[in-house]
Amino acid sequence: MAELDTVRLRDSQMDTVSLRNAFRTFTDAATFRRFAIQLRRDAPQNSQYGRPPERGLRYWQDELWLQFRAQLPAAPESIDAIRDAMLWCDLHEHSLVDGQGFLVSGVYETPGFVDALESQFPFGYGYWQLICPECVTACKTWIARYAPDAESEND
Ligand SMILES: [Zn+2]
Repeated sequence: MAELDTVRLRDSQMDTVSLRNAFRTFTDAATFRRFAIQLRRDAPQNSQYGRPPERGLRYWQDELWLQFRAQLPAAPESIDAIRDAMLWCDLHEHSLVDGQGFLVSGVYETPGFVDALESQFPFGYGYWQLICPECVTACKTWIARYAPDAESEND
């Protein structure tokens, strides 16, 4: 078994699911989420908002990824491969896809919104174009229920 693992790792052909699971095991849930949120923020899909189109990992992400690769040399170095695996909603176990986050004005003042954003739809609210469809649905449901008077900006 150990020998097989060594061969597989030397091959450097990790699929995205194995890579993601290995990274989830390596780090804690909060850091994993933060890593994905930062990747989304820097993804080329969002470049129309003035961010550099081909930004790589941030310093803290790079440090973490180096530590991860020290333990798992088969993990890729390329930002594209990292994005393929890590642009992902850990809550709904869903890859982030092109779309549009749900955006309404004034909702941040609604009691409980920030907590709900973090715990129920971390990839569903805002101007982002990389979204988790289930987060968007959860966000719309939450807002319809708790902030029905909020003004939708895109729906
Ligand atoms: Zn989600």
